[in-house]
Amino acid sequence: MFEQIKLPYETNALEPYIDKETVETHHGKHHATYTKNFNELAEKAGVANLSAEEILANLDKISDESLKKGLKNQGGGYYNHNLYFEMFSPTPAKAPVGKLAEAIDSTFGSLDALKDRMSTLAAGQFGSGWAWLSCDKSGALTVSTSLNQDNPISEGKGLIPLIALDVWEHAYYLKYKNLRPDYIKAFWEILDWSKVSARYDEIVG
Ligand code: MN
Repeated sequence: MFEQIKLPYETNALEPYIDKETVETHHGKHHATYTKNFNELAEKAGVANLSAEEILANLDKISDESLKKGLKNQGGGYYNHNLYFEMFSPTPAKAPVGKLAEAIDSTFGSLDALKDRMSTLAAGQFGSGWAWLSCDKSGALTVSTSLNQDNPISEGKGLIPLIALDVWEHAYYLKYKNLRPDYIKAFWEILDWSKVSARYDEIVG
């Protein structure tokens, strides 16, 4: 049974950056629905015993096209939002530490340069999708975008996401309307770099 994360903060705790109503709708409705649908599809496809990461990494092994598409969309929706909501904090660490801090500096030049690069990609993502910071097991960092609920895990490059920046309109439209770049600026204010750093250390070992 795949379980939606319980928010590690109150629904109003991210204000003024992300408002209560958006968190309630996004987590309580959108994410809850992805989770429910993913569980049903995973059962149907006979893969409910695998982890969500294993399912997303092996979509090409599912021969039924409709199940494959469903697992990609609903499984991505489930997994991507767990990562998205998990990484926020009302009292976030504002910068990475340790190995991740070093990798960001050597790959992008500085933390600001990484944030600029991801922000530009996220703002320019046409339609619904995500911007990502991912790494492979060796620790190499990659910034990318994806459409819909597609996840870097499914790309076959050994990538595991560290930061998931949701740019679907449901993530910001109640408060920011058409001003996606303002939401992206707000995203960085509540992203907890101590959680991102810990995830990196866990993946790279
Ligand atoms: Mn979303």
